[in-house]
Order: sequence, then C-alpha cells, then structure tokens
Amino acid sequence: MSTVMGEVMPAVFLGHGNPMNAIQSNAYTESWRRFGQSIPRPKAILAISAHWFGPETAVSGSLFPETVHDFYGFPQELFEVTWPAPGSPELAKRIQKLLQPLDVRFDKQRGLDHGTWAVLCHVFPNADIPVVQLSIDDRKPPEFHYEIGRLLQPLRDEGVLIVGSGNIVHNLRAYAWRNDNIPPFDWALRFESAAKKLMLEGKDRELVAYGTLGEDARLSAPSPDHFLPLLYVLGLRREHEQVSFPVEGIEGGSLSMLSVRIG
Ligand code: ZN
Repeated sequence: MSTVMGEVMPAVFLGHGNPMNAIQSNAYTESWRRFGQSIPRPKAILAISAHWFGPETAVSGSLFPETVHDFYGFPQELFEVTWPAPGSPELAKRIQKLLQPLDVRFDKQRGLDHGTWAVLCHVFPNADIPVVQLSIDDRKPPEFHYEIGRLLQPLRDEGVLIVGSGNIVHNLRAYAWRNDNIPPFDWALRFESAAKKLMLEGKDRELVAYGTLGEDARLSAPSPDHFLPLLYVLGLRREHEQVSFPVEGIEGGSLSMLSVRIG
C-alpha cells in the first residue's frame, strides 16, 4: 500500500452491527479486512459513527484517543479489547476549517466509540494510522449531514479515508437477539434494496429525504442515528464516481450489514 500523488481516496460506509464483530471472524469482518488491503494507505482516518450522536458538531482532538466500551451486557473479553490508534489534532483542525463558518467544537478528551474501533480494528489491525471522529448533530435535518459530507470532499485528495459507521436498516425492537438464523423481515429487504437502487442511480436527494419513503423506511430507520452516517458518505461522492457494495447481509431479521464503497 502506498499513497500516490493525485490519487483520490475512496470513502466507505460500513454496517457495524453487533459489537461482538470486534472479536469475531466472519464474512463482514473479512470484507472489512479486504477493504483495508484494497486501498492506498491513508495518512489519516475520519470516522463518523452512529455512536457519537448529540446536540452539537464536534471533532475529537486527543493525541491518544481511548478505546471506549460504550455498551453493556457483553462478555468480558470484549471489554478488554483496545485498539490504540493515535489521534490527529492536525486533522481535527483541518476539519474545523473546512466546515467554517459552522462552529465545530474541538474535544480534547473524546475517545473512540465502538462504531469506530470495532470495525477499524479489522480494517487496520495494526492501529498505526491516526483517527479523528466527527460527531453527528442530532438537532439537524438530514440535508445538513449530506452537506457536511460535500464540504469534506477535499480531504479525499489529501490522503484521508472517511468512514461512516452505522446500519442502513437498524431496528433493535424487531431484532432477534437470540436467533441468528431468522430470515430478514420483508420491509428490511425492501428498504435495503430500494436504498441500493437509489445509490446506483445517483438519486442522493431521495435518500436524504428517506423520511418520505414510506412505512419500510420508518421501520428500517426508526431513529436517525444509524442511518445518517450514510448521508455523509454519499455527500463525498463525486460526479460519475462508482458505488459498490463490498458486503451484504441482514442479521437478526432487522439489522443490515450492507457496506457502501465510493470510488
Ligand atoms: Zn451501533
């Protein structure tokens, strides 16, 4: 892996699903690993995770971000995982500048949440590339998040890999926690395939307005947190750029593991 001048870094949305993926090896984790091997080595990574969702836009500016175990009810083994990638205050400041005049708070304390480390530990097992996180402002409409993606496009020319981490279908009320083999709900399959079709056709605006896509959308994204990271990634897509789906699958009936690669 090497960075060639003038090369445009791909961008990716990864369906993170169950935190246990961090310590497992399966079709999803293998596809994350292959993705990491298929791209030029990034200078730094910007992660936008469903699990930093609150009333502000902030960036993590810590030099040594902690691995945060922001879940409960999982085996001790998972709480012992650390993924000690460094931070990059420099990239955090660059993001603040790109998003001006929006006031982006510089958070010196913030660590990495599991939406970030539980996937990136497979993409970059050596934890040797600096990572910064950007929060998702829960007060803002979907268009806001898509526009932030557009404003962050220059980072792709600067060797920065931008990763959105969520799940396109994420309904934990319908999720079959004790039954891995339950077939996907019809509404989950329909919404996922509608979303794929819109992405392939470049109909971003319809995905930004996902709230108008009917009952399937309401069941698939009952809260916006896991869907919105996709909109940042779609905002990073340039005209005529390819979109592909490195891995697919629906877990527990209602959790889509679909990944979306741009470029
Ligand atoms: Zn999650």
